[in-house]
Amino acid sequence: MTIIAAREIDEQGCIQLPKELRRVRKWSKGDFIGIYESGKTIIIDLFEKAEEEYCSICGKLKCILRIDDFCFCEICVALLKDEIEDIEQHVNLNGLSR
Ligand SMILES: [Zn+2]
Repeated sequence: MTIIAAREIDEQGCIQLPKELRRVRKWSKGDFIGIYESGKTIIIDLFEKAEEEYCSICGKLKCILRIDDFCFCEICVALLKDEIEDIEQHVNLNGLSR
């Protein structure tokens, strides 16, 4: 296990997450952090609930489309639509050349 930082707990029981850790993890204001316990070890990570509410691809935006256990945001749906159209055109072109 590697130590990233040492922080003092303040009067309210708060600690500040290091800026570099937040940057690397892409955690920002409003993200929910879960505090997990594994034996004597405490683990902090994005709260699992966030994965249910946010896009399965980019993980940043809220879902507008759900298919089984996956959800997709507006931007990723548009990107997928473009990809599908490209594949359909490719299939049609190959179909015509035969
Ligand atoms: Zn997305």
